[in-house]
Amino acid sequence: MAQIIDGKAVAQAVKENVARKVEQLQERGIRPCLAVIIIGDDPASRTYVNNKKKACEATGILSKEISLDKETTTEQLLNVINELNDDMSVHGILCQLPLPKQIDENKIIAAISPEKDVDAFHALNVGRLFQGVQNLQPCTPSGVIVLLDYYGLPIEGKNCVIIGRSNIVGKPMAMLLLQRNGTVTVAHSKTADLKAITGMADILISAVGKPGFVTADMVKEGAIVIDVGINRDEQGKLCGDVCFDEVEKKASFITPVPGGVGPMTVAMLMENTVRAARLQYQ
Ligand code: NDP
Repeated sequence: MAQIIDGKAVAQAVKENVARKVEQLQERGIRPCLAVIIIGDDPASRTYVNNKKKACEATGILSKEISLDKETTTEQLLNVINELNDDMSVHGILCQLPLPKQIDENKIIAAISPEKDVDAFHALNVGRLFQGVQNLQPCTPSGVIVLLDYYGLPIEGKNCVIIGRSNIVGKPMAMLLLQRNGTVTVAHSKTADLKAITGMADILISAVGKPGFVTADMVKEGAIVIDVGINRDEQGKLCGDVCFDEVEKKASFITPVPGGVGPMTVAMLMENTVRAARLQYQ
Protein backbone atom coordinates (compact mmCIF):
# COMPACT_ATOMS: atom_id res chain seq x y z
CA MET A 1 0.00 0.00 0.00
CA ALA A 2 1.42 3.36 -1.03
CA GLN A 3 2.32 6.09 1.40
CA ILE A 4 0.14 9.13 0.81
CA ILE A 5 2.01 12.30 -0.06
CA ASP A 6 0.25 14.95 2.00
CA GLY A 7 0.29 18.05 -0.19
CA LYS A 8 -1.76 20.02 2.28
CA ALA A 9 0.79 19.54 5.06
CA VAL A 10 3.77 20.32 2.80
CA ALA A 11 1.98 23.39 1.43
CA GLN A 12 1.41 24.55 5.00
CA ALA A 13 5.15 24.19 5.74
CA VAL A 14 6.00 26.16 2.57
CA LYS A 15 3.56 28.92 3.54
CA GLU A 16 4.99 29.14 7.07
CA ASN A 17 8.42 29.59 5.53
CA VAL A 18 7.02 32.27 3.20
CA ALA A 19 5.42 34.05 6.18
CA ARG A 20 8.84 34.27 7.84
CA LYS A 21 10.36 35.76 4.67
CA VAL A 22 7.48 38.25 4.47
CA GLU A 23 8.24 39.35 8.05
CA GLN A 24 11.90 39.86 7.17
CA LEU A 25 10.96 41.96 4.16
CA GLN A 26 8.53 43.99 6.23
CA GLU A 27 11.33 44.79 8.67
CA ARG A 28 13.01 46.44 5.65
CA GLY A 29 9.80 48.32 4.86
CA ILE A 30 8.75 46.06 1.98
CA ARG A 31 5.29 44.48 1.96
CA PRO A 32 5.09 41.90 -0.83
CA CYS A 33 1.96 42.41 -2.89
CA LEU A 34 0.27 40.10 -5.39
CA ALA A 35 -2.21 41.49 -7.92
CA VAL A 36 -4.66 38.93 -9.28
CA ILE A 37 -6.73 39.78 -12.32
CA ILE A 38 -9.96 37.86 -12.84
CA ILE A 39 -12.10 38.32 -15.91
CA GLY A 40 -15.73 37.25 -16.05
CA ASP A 41 -17.57 35.02 -13.60
CA ASP A 42 -16.29 31.48 -14.20
CA PRO A 43 -16.96 29.63 -10.90
CA ALA A 44 -13.74 27.55 -11.07
CA SER A 45 -11.65 30.69 -11.63
CA ARG A 46 -13.44 32.38 -8.72
CA THR A 47 -12.57 29.44 -6.44
CA TYR A 48 -8.91 29.53 -7.53
CA VAL A 49 -8.70 33.30 -6.97
CA ASN A 50 -10.31 33.00 -3.53
CA ASN A 51 -7.81 30.29 -2.57
CA LYS A 52 -4.95 32.54 -3.65
CA LYS A 53 -6.34 35.44 -1.62
CA LYS A 54 -6.65 33.21 1.45
CA ALA A 55 -3.04 32.07 1.04
CA CYS A 56 -1.94 35.71 0.80
CA GLU A 57 -3.74 36.47 4.06
CA ALA A 58 -2.14 33.46 5.74
CA THR A 59 1.38 34.48 4.72
CA GLY A 60 1.12 38.24 5.23
CA ILE A 61 1.27 39.03 1.50
CA LEU A 62 -0.95 41.91 0.45
CA SER A 63 -3.45 40.81 -2.19
CA LYS A 64 -5.04 43.07 -4.70
CA GLU A 65 -7.92 41.75 -6.79
CA ILE A 66 -8.83 43.35 -10.10
CA SER A 67 -12.19 42.02 -11.35
CA LEU A 68 -12.99 42.81 -14.94
CA ASP A 69 -16.12 42.38 -17.01
CA LYS A 70 -16.33 39.26 -19.23
CA GLU A 71 -16.51 41.53 -22.29
CA THR A 72 -13.08 43.08 -21.54
CA THR A 73 -10.93 43.47 -24.67
CA THR A 74 -7.26 42.62 -25.10
CA GLU A 75 -6.42 46.36 -25.21
CA GLN A 76 -8.30 47.09 -21.99
CA LEU A 77 -6.56 44.21 -20.22
CA LEU A 78 -3.17 45.34 -21.56
CA ASN A 79 -3.83 48.79 -20.06
CA VAL A 80 -4.55 47.26 -16.66
CA ILE A 81 -1.36 45.16 -16.86
CA ASN A 82 0.73 48.17 -17.86
CA GLU A 83 -0.53 50.08 -14.84
CA LEU A 84 0.35 47.16 -12.56
CA ASN A 85 3.78 46.82 -14.21
CA ASP A 86 4.46 50.49 -13.37
CA ASP A 87 3.09 50.25 -9.82
CA MET A 88 6.12 49.90 -7.52
CA SER A 89 3.94 48.62 -4.68
CA VAL A 90 2.90 45.56 -6.73
CA HIS A 91 5.50 42.75 -6.91
CA GLY A 92 3.56 39.91 -8.52
CA ILE A 93 0.95 39.96 -11.28
CA LEU A 94 -1.22 37.00 -12.16
CA CYS A 95 -3.95 36.85 -14.75
CA GLN A 96 -6.31 33.98 -13.93
CA LEU A 97 -6.63 31.64 -16.91
CA PRO A 98 -8.54 30.68 -18.96
CA LEU A 99 -9.26 34.06 -20.50
CA PRO A 100 -12.46 34.81 -22.44
CA LYS A 101 -12.19 33.95 -26.16
CA GLN A 102 -11.90 37.55 -27.38
CA ILE A 103 -8.65 38.08 -25.44
CA ASP A 104 -5.30 37.19 -27.01
CA GLU A 105 -3.68 35.09 -24.28
CA ASN A 106 -0.19 35.22 -25.81
CA LYS A 107 -0.22 39.04 -25.86
CA ILE A 108 -1.29 39.12 -22.22
CA ILE A 109 1.41 36.69 -21.09
CA ALA A 110 4.02 38.71 -23.02
CA ALA A 111 2.84 41.99 -21.48
CA ILE A 112 3.37 41.06 -17.83
CA SER A 113 6.76 42.31 -16.68
CA PRO A 114 9.05 39.22 -16.36
CA GLU A 115 10.13 40.41 -12.89
CA LYS A 116 6.48 40.35 -11.75
CA ASP A 117 5.50 37.21 -13.68
CA VAL A 118 4.77 34.95 -10.70
CA ASP A 119 3.20 32.28 -12.93
CA ALA A 120 6.51 32.20 -14.88
CA PHE A 121 4.69 31.94 -18.21
CA HIS A 122 6.55 34.83 -19.92
CA ALA A 123 8.93 33.73 -22.69
CA LEU A 124 11.90 35.18 -20.80
CA ASN A 125 11.13 33.10 -17.72
CA VAL A 126 10.47 30.02 -19.86
CA GLY A 127 13.85 30.61 -21.53
CA ARG A 128 15.58 30.97 -18.18
CA LEU A 129 14.00 27.71 -17.08
CA PHE A 130 15.42 26.00 -20.20
CA GLN A 131 18.85 27.47 -19.46
CA GLY A 132 18.66 26.24 -15.89
CA VAL A 133 18.95 29.76 -14.49
CA GLN A 134 17.44 30.01 -11.02
CA ASN A 135 14.54 32.39 -11.34
CA LEU A 136 10.77 32.54 -11.01
CA GLN A 137 9.58 29.03 -11.78
CA PRO A 138 6.12 27.80 -12.75
CA CYS A 139 4.14 26.99 -9.63
CA THR A 140 2.66 23.54 -10.31
CA PRO A 141 5.84 21.79 -11.54
CA SER A 142 8.00 23.40 -8.87
CA GLY A 143 5.41 22.31 -6.30
CA VAL A 144 5.84 18.72 -7.50
CA ILE A 145 9.63 18.96 -7.02
CA VAL A 146 9.15 20.32 -3.49
CA LEU A 147 6.82 17.41 -2.69
CA LEU A 148 9.39 14.85 -3.90
CA ASP A 149 12.15 16.57 -1.93
CA TYR A 150 10.04 16.84 1.20
CA TYR A 151 9.52 13.07 1.23
CA GLY A 152 13.20 12.46 0.47
CA LEU A 153 12.44 10.84 -2.90
CA PRO A 154 15.47 11.07 -5.18
CA ILE A 155 15.04 12.19 -8.79
CA GLU A 156 18.60 11.67 -10.02
CA GLY A 157 18.94 8.66 -12.30
CA LYS A 158 15.23 7.85 -12.08
CA ASN A 159 12.98 7.16 -15.06
CA CYS A 160 10.50 10.02 -14.95
CA VAL A 161 7.46 9.84 -17.22
CA ILE A 162 5.14 12.82 -17.59
CA ILE A 163 1.80 12.35 -19.34
CA GLY A 164 0.88 15.74 -20.82
CA ARG A 165 2.94 18.38 -22.63
CA SER A 166 1.15 21.65 -21.86
CA ASN A 167 3.12 24.86 -21.44
CA ILE A 168 1.96 25.21 -17.84
CA VAL A 169 2.54 21.69 -16.55
CA GLY A 170 4.10 19.02 -18.79
CA LYS A 171 6.90 20.96 -20.52
CA PRO A 172 8.20 22.90 -17.50
CA MET A 173 7.89 19.74 -15.38
CA ALA A 174 10.21 18.00 -17.84
CA MET A 175 12.78 20.80 -17.54
CA LEU A 176 12.77 20.76 -13.74
CA LEU A 177 13.18 16.98 -13.59
CA LEU A 178 15.97 17.17 -16.15
CA GLN A 179 17.74 19.81 -14.05
CA ARG A 180 17.63 17.32 -11.19
CA ASN A 181 19.20 14.62 -13.36
CA GLY A 182 16.07 12.59 -13.95
CA THR A 183 15.76 10.68 -17.24
CA VAL A 184 12.63 12.25 -18.66
CA THR A 185 10.01 11.04 -21.12
CA VAL A 186 7.09 13.28 -22.05
CA ALA A 187 4.03 11.41 -23.36
CA HIS A 188 1.00 12.96 -25.04
CA SER A 189 -2.11 12.08 -27.01
CA LYS A 190 -0.09 10.87 -30.02
CA THR A 191 2.23 8.66 -27.98
CA ALA A 192 2.26 5.05 -29.19
CA ASP A 193 1.94 2.29 -26.59
CA LEU A 194 1.59 4.60 -23.61
CA LYS A 195 1.27 1.69 -21.20
CA ALA A 196 4.72 0.36 -22.13
CA ILE A 197 6.21 3.80 -21.42
CA THR A 198 4.40 4.53 -18.16
CA GLY A 199 5.19 0.98 -17.03
CA MET A 200 8.90 1.90 -17.00
CA ALA A 201 8.42 4.96 -14.79
CA ASP A 202 9.98 5.19 -11.35
CA ILE A 203 8.24 8.56 -11.08
CA LEU A 204 4.98 8.88 -13.01
CA ILE A 205 3.38 12.31 -13.29
CA SER A 206 -0.05 12.62 -14.86
CA ALA A 207 -1.24 15.98 -16.20
CA VAL A 208 -3.91 14.94 -18.68
CA GLY A 209 -7.18 16.25 -17.29
CA LYS A 210 -9.19 13.03 -17.62
CA PRO A 211 -10.68 11.22 -14.61
CA GLY A 212 -9.65 7.58 -14.30
CA PHE A 213 -6.99 7.91 -16.99
CA VAL A 214 -4.13 6.22 -15.12
CA THR A 215 -5.03 2.66 -14.20
CA ALA A 216 -3.01 0.17 -12.13
CA ASP A 217 -1.89 -1.77 -15.23
CA MET A 218 -0.05 1.36 -16.41
CA VAL A 219 2.01 1.63 -13.24
CA LYS A 220 5.20 -0.18 -12.25
CA GLU A 221 5.21 -1.90 -8.87
CA GLY A 222 6.68 0.54 -6.34
CA ALA A 223 6.46 3.63 -8.58
CA ILE A 224 5.92 7.14 -7.22
CA VAL A 225 2.69 8.49 -8.70
CA ILE A 226 2.00 12.21 -8.82
CA ASP A 227 -1.49 13.22 -9.95
CA VAL A 228 -1.64 16.77 -11.25
CA GLY A 229 -5.12 16.41 -12.75
CA ILE A 230 -8.02 18.35 -11.30
CA ASN A 231 -11.26 17.02 -12.71
CA ARG A 232 -14.87 16.35 -11.77
CA ASP A 233 -16.16 12.79 -11.84
CA GLU A 234 -19.67 11.81 -12.99
CA GLN A 235 -21.06 12.72 -9.57
CA GLY A 236 -19.42 16.14 -9.77
CA LYS A 237 -16.84 15.20 -7.14
CA LEU A 238 -13.28 16.56 -7.43
CA CYS A 239 -10.84 13.91 -8.67
CA GLY A 240 -7.49 13.55 -10.39
CA ASP A 241 -6.37 11.54 -13.44
CA VAL A 242 -5.38 8.49 -11.43
CA CYS A 243 -7.65 5.61 -10.37
CA PHE A 244 -6.53 6.16 -6.80
CA ASP A 245 -7.99 3.04 -5.17
CA GLU A 246 -6.29 0.57 -7.52
CA VAL A 247 -3.03 2.48 -8.11
CA GLU A 248 -2.50 3.05 -4.38
CA LYS A 249 -2.09 -0.72 -3.98
CA LYS A 250 0.80 -0.80 -6.48
CA ALA A 251 2.63 2.49 -5.96
CA SER A 252 5.12 3.25 -3.19
CA PHE A 253 4.03 6.89 -2.87
CA ILE A 254 0.98 8.64 -4.28
CA THR A 255 -0.62 12.08 -4.18
CA PRO A 256 -4.36 12.30 -3.52
CA VAL A 257 -6.78 14.69 -5.23
CA PRO A 258 -7.77 16.88 -3.50
CA GLY A 259 -4.94 17.46 -1.06
CA GLY A 260 -1.95 16.66 -3.29
CA VAL A 261 -0.48 18.90 -5.95
CA GLY A 262 -3.29 21.50 -5.83
CA PRO A 263 -2.37 23.11 -2.47
CA MET A 264 1.30 23.11 -3.53
CA THR A 265 0.54 25.25 -6.58
CA VAL A 266 -0.92 27.99 -4.38
CA ALA A 267 1.92 27.72 -1.84
CA MET A 268 4.52 28.04 -4.63
CA LEU A 269 2.70 31.12 -5.91
CA MET A 270 3.27 32.71 -2.49
CA GLU A 271 6.92 31.66 -2.64
CA ASN A 272 7.24 33.23 -6.09
CA THR A 273 5.62 36.49 -4.93
CA VAL A 274 8.20 36.83 -2.16
CA ARG A 275 10.98 35.92 -4.57
CA ALA A 276 9.70 38.54 -7.03
CA ALA A 277 9.62 41.19 -4.29
CA ARG A 278 13.21 40.34 -3.31
CA LEU A 279 14.39 40.40 -6.94
CA GLN A 280 12.83 43.82 -7.44
CA TYR A 281 14.64 45.27 -4.44
CA GLN A 282 18.01 43.69 -5.15
P1 NDP B 1 -3.96 20.51 -21.25
O1 NDP B 1 -5.33 20.13 -21.71
O2 NDP B 1 -3.34 21.75 -21.72
O3 NDP B 1 -2.96 19.29 -21.58
C1 NDP B 1 -3.35 17.96 -21.45
C2 NDP B 1 -2.27 17.08 -21.99
O4 NDP B 1 -2.71 15.74 -21.90
C3 NDP B 1 -1.94 17.34 -23.47
O5 NDP B 1 -0.55 17.42 -23.65
C4 NDP B 1 -2.54 16.13 -24.18
O6 NDP B 1 -1.80 15.73 -25.33
C5 NDP B 1 -2.42 15.08 -23.11
N1 NDP B 1 -3.38 14.02 -23.37
C6 NDP B 1 -4.70 14.13 -23.60
N2 NDP B 1 -5.24 12.93 -23.86
C7 NDP B 1 -4.23 12.04 -23.81
C8 NDP B 1 -4.14 10.64 -24.01
N3 NDP B 1 -5.20 9.91 -24.34
N4 NDP B 1 -2.93 10.05 -23.87
C9 NDP B 1 -1.83 10.77 -23.55
N5 NDP B 1 -1.86 12.11 -23.36
C10 NDP B 1 -3.04 12.73 -23.48
O7 NDP B 1 -4.05 20.46 -19.68
P2 NDP B 1 -3.13 21.15 -18.52
O8 NDP B 1 -1.73 20.71 -18.64
O9 NDP B 1 -3.44 22.58 -18.44
O10 NDP B 1 -3.80 20.46 -17.25
C11 NDP B 1 -3.80 19.06 -17.09
C12 NDP B 1 -4.58 18.72 -15.84
O11 NDP B 1 -3.93 19.27 -14.72
C13 NDP B 1 -6.01 19.29 -15.80
O12 NDP B 1 -6.83 18.38 -15.09
C14 NDP B 1 -5.86 20.56 -15.01
O13 NDP B 1 -7.04 20.94 -14.36
C15 NDP B 1 -4.81 20.14 -14.01
N6 NDP B 1 -4.02 21.22 -13.46
C16 NDP B 1 -3.80 21.16 -12.12
C17 NDP B 1 -3.04 22.10 -11.51
C18 NDP B 1 -2.82 21.97 -10.05
O14 NDP B 1 -2.54 22.94 -9.39
N7 NDP B 1 -2.89 20.75 -9.50
C19 NDP B 1 -2.49 23.24 -12.24
C20 NDP B 1 -2.70 23.17 -13.67
C21 NDP B 1 -3.46 22.19 -14.24
P3 NDP B 1 -1.71 16.65 -26.67
O15 NDP B 1 -0.72 17.72 -26.35
O16 NDP B 1 -1.23 15.70 -27.69
O17 NDP B 1 -3.08 17.18 -26.92
